[in-house]
Amino acid sequence: MKHTASQSRRQFLASVGGAALTIPTLTDAWGRPLQQARKLGVALVGLGSYSKNRLAPALQLTQNCRLAGIVTGTPAKAEEWTKKYDIPQTNVYDYKTFDRIIDNKDIDVVYVVLPNSMHAEYVIRAAQAGKHVICEKPMAITEADCQRMIDACKKANQQLAVGYRLHYEPFTKEVMRLGQEKVFGPIKFIESSDGFRIGDPTQWRMKKAMAGGGPLMDVGIYAIQGARYVTGEEPISVTAQLSPKTEPQKFKEVEETIFWQFRFPSGAVSNSTSSYTAGIERLYASCEKGWFELSPAFGYGPLKGRTSNGPIEQPVVNHQATHMDAVCKDLMDGKTLPDHITGVEGKRDVRLLQAIYRAAETGKVVDLK
Ligand code: NAD
Repeated sequence: MKHTASQSRRQFLASVGGAALTIPTLTDAWGRPLQQARKLGVALVGLGSYSKNRLAPALQLTQNCRLAGIVTGTPAKAEEWTKKYDIPQTNVYDYKTFDRIIDNKDIDVVYVVLPNSMHAEYVIRAAQAGKHVICEKPMAITEADCQRMIDACKKANQQLAVGYRLHYEPFTKEVMRLGQEKVFGPIKFIESSDGFRIGDPTQWRMKKAMAGGGPLMDVGIYAIQGARYVTGEEPISVTAQLSPKTEPQKFKEVEETIFWQFRFPSGAVSNSTSSYTAGIERLYASCEKGWFELSPAFGYGPLKGRTSNGPIEQPVVNHQATHMDAVCKDLMDGKTLPDHITGVEGKRDVRLLQAIYRAAETGKVVDLK
């Protein structure tokens, strides 16, 4: 961990042991004033819709990090962003100059917000440049890539978080508690689905090589997460089915709608749908002594929940700011990030994504044990 604000503070306190002293400006290891050093500098890689509409605005709300740099292949975007967010030219990179970020003391964390197939390369390059990394979901398009990313971060002594914003979201945390603590008894059945009607058919999400697949890779991962975090268990087998394409001209490379079913060690079963042609967003758990649900369950909020006892009341937060603040707080404190938001979790999901496709293609039960 480069950030040594607490060390500087300790040195300062030690230095005021007795006599009247000239109070020095407190700085971190890079010589930055402590006030500024309390916020980690984040560089966003890829200035598409998620960066523009969600992450950059959220970085104006964060307490533990700030938008310090950008990586973009589009000069017009660089100009717009540097003006809008007061980013110095020295903190602007393109995809060729990116590796020079190694020399930039303003950037502590690189946040990779590129098409799925590009995550692995940029996470690995960021780690090699000595930066902690946050990578968007799905972590990668193959399990092998996930492992390469984990290994590269470990080798470079940098931490790797995945953009699992819901793990810090209060309604989601409440349904994790209701399920994992068996507040309504053991879970018997889960319905966990996420889908929307996709627009532009030429975008990278519709190209198998860039996206790794269709709605399953993009939003189905939330439905997988939902079933996993309400049970707190890992599925032991999966079956899956592809629905016939109703718009074959649009869905040339990726699935239009997919269904899958997990079995869990406790006996709980889940049924899920992910679609690029129909909107659905719901997480429902039926338990021995009642039920609970979130609907909407996975979007940017506000999420809404009910149980068989009444409404779920929780504060509404900005998902992205809460997630980045929590990750950066742990990084600042020199703590190891919890597995459930790191590459360990990202790789588990990618393994399941691949197993679901295998089950759908073969029509067979895929053993996950
Ligand atoms: P987007 O298409 O809006 O943006 C992608 C960015 O990548 C663009 O700025 C584009 O210029 C850049 N890019 C660089 N090289 C490219 C190439 N060869 N082909 C295409 N684009 C290239 O996508 P997005 O919606 O911002 O998604 C980016 C990532 O963020 C994805 O992995 C997605 O799954 C993830 N995401 C996560 C959430 C969430 O809630 N956690 C929400 C949306 C997107």
